[in-house]
Amino acid sequence: MARPRRLVILGSTGSIGSQVMEVVRRHPGLFRVVGLAANSRFELLARQMAEFRPGLVCVGQGQARGSIARAAAGLRICLAEGGRGLELAAGMPGADMTVNALVGAAGLLPTMAAIRAGRDVALANKESLVAGGELVMRAAGKSGARIIPIDSEHAALHQCLDGRDPRTVRRLILTASGGPFRGRGRSKLLRVTARHAMKHPTWRMGPKITVDSATLMNKGLEVLEARHLFGVPLERIEVVVHPESVIHSMAEFTDGSVLAQLSSPDMRLPIQYALTWPVRRPSLAKPLNFPEIGKLTFHRPDTATFRCLKLAYLAGGIGGSMPAVMNAANEVAVQAFIEGRIGFLRIPEVIVRTMAAVPRTRAATVGDVMAADARARAAARRLLGRVRP
Ligand code: NDP
Ligand code: MG
Repeated sequence: MARPRRLVILGSTGSIGSQVMEVVRRHPGLFRVVGLAANSRFELLARQMAEFRPGLVCVGQGQARGSIARAAAGLRICLAEGGRGLELAAGMPGADMTVNALVGAAGLLPTMAAIRAGRDVALANKESLVAGGELVMRAAGKSGARIIPIDSEHAALHQCLDGRDPRTVRRLILTASGGPFRGRGRSKLLRVTARHAMKHPTWRMGPKITVDSATLMNKGLEVLEARHLFGVPLERIEVVVHPESVIHSMAEFTDGSVLAQLSSPDMRLPIQYALTWPVRRPSLAKPLNFPEIGKLTFHRPDTATFRCLKLAYLAGGIGGSMPAVMNAANEVAVQAFIEGRIGFLRIPEVIVRTMAAVPRTRAATVGDVMAADARARAAARRLLGRVRP
């Protein structure tokens, strides 16, 4: 048997991170976990440390103390912390692949660190590509690191496009479940709370992406993610609402043929695809039962009600630092919504106003992108003080 693939898992305690662990356990001997990073869920992290015995673990800034430090010392695990620690773990010598399952633009620097170290990246953290996609792809081209998407739509497209001539691709069609508020008009969205938004019809995910799915910003982020991953211009990337979440995305070719990837909605499948690619193995996902599914339906997204999808296209069209600005404003607004400080319909409002307040600059370096991100967060926080709840 070949030697195990050595994995660093950033965000190991999250929704994706925990499912990465399930995939690792499903294939004894196939993987070895050599690095972990998490922020605050220390009980779970300590269990993961005892189970996998990684060489390096990274925790949030100022957290490398107390019980987690004692657990690490007892297991002879090196403990790092904060942003520098994440970068260290991401590019850790001796690893084969870094899984980035962090949430938010905080994932950009670790993605870059992994790529610069020539490490293949299994990427769930879409915000790194939204904010710094050109830089990430250019660095990957230079170092030879490969980026294999975990996001189910992009994993689907990766499968549809694998080995095909990019010049023959006419359109990418991303499917969207439509989220928990599909079919509601603005008046019905005035009073929805984070608790309502957390009831996603098909997926169980972390809080930020669950709200993003309810606003359709998740699909906007995914359009920008797809543009960078597959080098297809925005005007040739479309979104279609497909509530059954059976088709995970489609690629249309110049001859009119459309290839789609179908499976039951279970993130463990795209996670495993990224971890074992180019090899396929039995997975934990339930096989599809077509007579039970009966029919698959498709609708146009309601972008008049769910404005975030259009905002993502707009930011992508403006280019430069604007996608990073939009992404940062969204992170601030979503957090405020989760904390009950603003209503659901204020999320796009905060984003639009931040985009208007923070001018586009160039995004030639990671420093440029992070500076735009910081300016946008400051502007969005100032706006939060002013918008009606
Ligand atoms: P979660 O909120 O469930 O998990 C986020 C993880 O990141 C946690 O392990 C958290 O640690 C860790 N983390 C956050 N900040 C830091 C930090 N500063 N330092 C170290 N660790 C940190 O998110 P999800 O798993 O839902 O999403 C992760 C990414 O994957 C997002 O970009 C999302 O868009 C994408 N994605 C998620 C899908 C899903 O099904 N969940 C599907 C497709 C894409 P702790 O828990 O210890 O605080
Ligand atoms: Mg997705």
